[in-house]
Amino acid sequence: MNKQQDEKWMRHALSLANNAEQQGEIPVGAVLIKDGQIIGEGWNQSILQHDPSAHAEMMAIRQAGCVIENYRLIDTTLYVTLEPCPMCAGLLVHSRIRRLVFGASDYKSGAAGSVMNLLQDEKLNHQVEISSGVLAQECGDRLSAFFKRRRAEKKKLKQKKREES
Ligand SMILES: [Zn+2]
Repeated sequence: MNKQQDEKWMRHALSLANNAEQQGEIPVGAVLIKDGQIIGEGWNQSILQHDPSAHAEMMAIRQAGCVIENYRLIDTTLYVTLEPCPMCAGLLVHSRIRRLVFGASDYKSGAAGSVMNLLQDEKLNHQVEISSGVLAQECGDRLSAFFKRRRAEKKKLKQKKREES
């Protein structure tokens, strides 16, 4: 585990989160690394693709499987700006990903320690190493700024409607 390396890839995940934000999606980004190389990149695309499973981790992992032509992603590390949900945590286990590094914790639906810890459940046949809180402040700020802006936009829209009626 190398702090500098972790922060470098987390910054890359943050830049992918920007893509989501530009498309009006919740800004979460993910990148999958094997032997120091990017094999998959993803960002939230649920709204755009009408797909509740189109989370950043899901997109990155699907791409990586195609790139290395294998459904087992052995010896890889996934960097994601927000703690994975139960669906994505389950996907990490299926993929046999070795290590997860995430930024901000998700106290509402995080499945890497916050609400539950699916990744290290001994009843499952694979456990994933977890490093949490890498650039947590930046990752969290990105999300809260997005939600704050969206709330303000909704308020404005409501006000406009009231004025028109
Ligand atoms: Zn998810």
